[in-house]
Amino acid sequence: METTAQGIYSEQEIQDLVTAQRAYYNSNVTLPVEFRLKQLKKFRDLIRKHEDDLHAAIYKDFGKSKYDNQLTEIFPLYEELDIAIKNVRRWVQHRKVKTNLLNQPAKSYLVPEPLGVSLVIGAWNFPYNLSLIPVVGSMVAGNTTILKPSELPVETSKIMAKIINENFDKNYLHVVEGGIPETTAILKQRFDKVFFTGSPQVGKIVNQAAAAHLTSVTLELGGKNPALFTKDATIDVGVKRMVWAKFLNSGQLCLAPDYVLVHKDIKSKVLESIVTEIKKNDFSVENENFVRIINARNFDRVASLIDDSKVFFGGKTNREERLIEPTVLNNVSLDDAIMQDEIFGPIIPVIEYETIDEAFQIIKRFEKPLAAYLFSNDADIKNRFLTEIPFGSGGINEAVMQNNNSNLPFGGVGNSGMGRYHGKYSFENFSHFKAILDKANFFESDLKYYGHSDRQMKVIKTLS
Ligand code: NAD
Repeated sequence: METTAQGIYSEQEIQDLVTAQRAYYNSNVTLPVEFRLKQLKKFRDLIRKHEDDLHAAIYKDFGKSKYDNQLTEIFPLYEELDIAIKNVRRWVQHRKVKTNLLNQPAKSYLVPEPLGVSLVIGAWNFPYNLSLIPVVGSMVAGNTTILKPSELPVETSKIMAKIINENFDKNYLHVVEGGIPETTAILKQRFDKVFFTGSPQVGKIVNQAAAAHLTSVTLELGGKNPALFTKDATIDVGVKRMVWAKFLNSGQLCLAPDYVLVHKDIKSKVLESIVTEIKKNDFSVENENFVRIINARNFDRVASLIDDSKVFFGGKTNREERLIEPTVLNNVSLDDAIMQDEIFGPIIPVIEYETIDEAFQIIKRFEKPLAAYLFSNDADIKNRFLTEIPFGSGGINEAVMQNNNSNLPFGGVGNSGMGRYHGKYSFENFSHFKAILDKANFFESDLKYYGHSDRQMKVIKTLS
């Protein structure tokens, strides 16, 4: 039997924790900027102090190397912390907007306020990044937070609980470990914000639970992300970037290109180039840094998607080690098993198309994906791609790296999620903006009052 992180809280204890956090929030302790800065800096110091522990835990869980962990989990976390620390004083300011003539003389502005008690539910594939970056957003916006990391990577769940629970006031920030029973119990509570990262299936469960309390929800989900190569694409550079994005974390990445659409005239070149790049990058099961599939259930699911008759490269699997060779499938059709759901593993199905309209139609057959990537030098196609294809975020001649620019928001649309975060968008995600009309007292127009004289009508008409 597989081990998962165990919950240690009863339903009553979870309820007590939420009640205590609400009381703490209502005491206004979390509102001052100084408080937020102190907690964020403390959090940053703790991460620095425990970097080696964080590396060791994730390596134990699924063989993720120190380098990959630093690049894709720890570095983005520091970046988010630094941006939050640098900008929080500015972000909490009132945001001025214009006042229309009817309401003069007045000022209009938005006042950011925290939502209150937040719940963050993390996914397993980037356990630090996807759990702790939303927590930074909740903290900088002035909320209290309960984090429920994924139970699948046991060691990373444990180390996050240890670092946070031993160092922060439970009423302010606390980790509750556990799986479905614990999450189900937590979701019965009333939160002011639920931030969930995971699959669309579980996203629906979370959304339904939050609806019972009319809680604001952010859902960071997944989907089938296309990588589209046009006839004029710069193949060598494009494929290099696409291959890195696909096999990072062994394809267990919500933003990874899921399938490749390639114009028939360049298909054989693209296929060859994919293989060359896989080899150049040393994406192979012999490489001790090649990431394992998270558990046996996912291994079986992903391995079953390899249709031997369509293997162009790779295809070998090792169940005991939970390793799947980087695999390229050729001549894939839309009816194949691999094209039914998000793959979330190191397999690239390659599908050829003849016209760009056909390629767009294929993309639009699926639910709106979390990401889409276009490899092309054709300005007209770029423009059509950006206007005609719905998706959460994307890249032109690049893949995945849009996620590593905190000036760009990260989030899905439709089946791939709702809401967005990173950088200032995280602050906004965990805040409400009160809309204020602040009226001067030296003048009062009679326009809104009874009277309805010809003069009033004339003025209203002029303003209309
Ligand atoms: P998951 O939906 O199985 O689990 C996510 C979280 O939900 C975990 O904390 C888990 O404990 C909890 N959970 C699972 N079943 C539950 C239930 N029945 N009731 C309540 N809670 C439950 O997802 P996962 O396997 O951890 O991650 C893979 C999926 O997440 C993929 O679809 C991937 O695309 C998506 N994902 C999205 C993003 C993003 O940022 N948009 C990032 C990573 C992963």
